[in-house]
Amino acid sequence: MITFDWLEQHAPVIAFMTGREEGDCGWEGCASGSRATCLAQAPIPSERLVALRQCHGDRIVVVQPQDAGRGSVDRASALADADGLISWESNLPLAINVADCVPVFLAGPGVCGLVHAGREGTAQHIAEKAVRELAEHDVLPESLYALLGPSAGPCCYAVSPEMRANSVASGVSARGDHLDLWDTNYRQLVGAGVPAEHIHVSGICTICQPGFFSYRGDATTARNMAVIMRRSGL
Ligand SMILES: [Zn+2]
Repeated sequence: MITFDWLEQHAPVIAFMTGREEGDCGWEGCASGSRATCLAQAPIPSERLVALRQCHGDRIVVVQPQDAGRGSVDRASALADADGLISWESNLPLAINVADCVPVFLAGPGVCGLVHAGREGTAQHIAEKAVRELAEHDVLPESLYALLGPSAGPCCYAVSPEMRANSVASGVSARGDHLDLWDTNYRQLVGAGVPAEHIHVSGICTICQPGFFSYRGDATTARNMAVIMRRSGL
């Protein structure tokens, strides 16, 4: 598990991502019990965790108090067909599953969010849309802090020429035949008004660095879990 001290220092949130050591925190990990075991050790009220049935789209859900617990340990009750969560509630952990896709953590005055930005979501500008959604709720982009968690790095994310062309046409950065989702999401956040000095890229590649499940590196169904929660009383 990695905790994101940089974000926690800038906003009253708890933010972390599980890895191999904690076991499979994806839906199959629900069946095997490893997700529950992992959540029991996490520094959050895990019974209140809200998760998504992700679909590589750009839909963002505003999580309400009554959603607490949806998808905590079962897929059936998770919020359906969305790839981003934002919430003004404290003590309500928001979660996404990733294994190479970029988890984009967002925190601002009284609000936090989490976005699943894989290649497809990034090409659909989901991080940028999350910032704009927050702006519609009167959260100024310049008040936000963003962190890009461990994910497929530009060092390793090689794609076919066709996929490269399609991705670049959607605004995704590329270096040679490698896509750079970190740079792309960084640029989207800056473009949406988040100050550059308010953005931290963890720089941890899930493919070539140990510690995290990697879809590309392992051909696995196991998933890491990214979580953010506003601390209570703040
Ligand atoms: Zn790498």
